[in-house]
Amino acid sequence: MKTRSPKLTDAERLAAPCGKCGATPGGKCHDCRGVGKAFCVERGRPDITAKKLQRKADEKNGKARAEYGTLFAYLADQELTPVTPADLQAEKLSRIRREVENAGLAEHDAREGLNGIVIAHMRRVSASLIGEVSESDIWACASNRYRSNWPYVVDMYRKALCTTDRIELEYVLQFDPSRVNQWNHDGRYTVVSKEWPQFGYTPAMSRDEFNNRFALKSIFWSAPTDLPEHDDGGLFERTIGQLKNPLGRSDA
Ligand SMILES: [Zn+2]
Repeated sequence: MKTRSPKLTDAERLAAPCGKCGATPGGKCHDCRGVGKAFCVERGRPDITAKKLQRKADEKNGKARAEYGTLFAYLADQELTPVTPADLQAEKLSRIRREVENAGLAEHDAREGLNGIVIAHMRRVSASLIGEVSESDIWACASNRYRSNWPYVVDMYRKALCTTDRIELEYVLQFDPSRVNQWNHDGRYTVVSKEWPQFGYTPAMSRDEFNNRFALKSIFWSAPTDLPEHDDGGLFERTIGQLKNPLGRSDA
């Protein structure tokens, strides 16, 4: 007959550490990329974890033994140290913790936070150079077009500050009945309603100066090699949470 663990409330399960993903008591469960998710099946149900680990351990020990064959079975008794479920659990937890580092998640978040600060700085400097109205027009266009794709946003600012190239910032849709049915036309056409720069504009900054002042950190996906980790009581995560959205953007 099967024995089942008693039904637990979500609060009770949250109070238990997770044997699957390594979440600490009170912390959320997460998948292998560190993204939060609902409870792992095993959380708060140590009997399930124990059963799985026991099966794994039996498999491993069986395999190791089988490698000796029947002829050398007596050697297996002398040489093999059987793997225990506790060994497997410890191995698994250490792997989970290393994976968070190896995926570069912490470093990735830090770089995104720094880029947010660079963007905010770039906006302030631009506003002081070309005026707040022009800057907010360019920002509206860039953020609408590129969202939080910062390299593209920076490209547009570079063009606006360092060149006299024309940027079409805003369009309006117009209707001309005389165009209807010409070239399969429904009579609608767009015109540029706002553009940069104004006539006679001199670039406000050299390209070199711009690149030096507003360099973004590149976002990488490979493993960083030196990320010592210590327990700071969640201070790092809380700080990064603040840094990630320094512009107060609702879609970031
Ligand atoms: Zn979990």
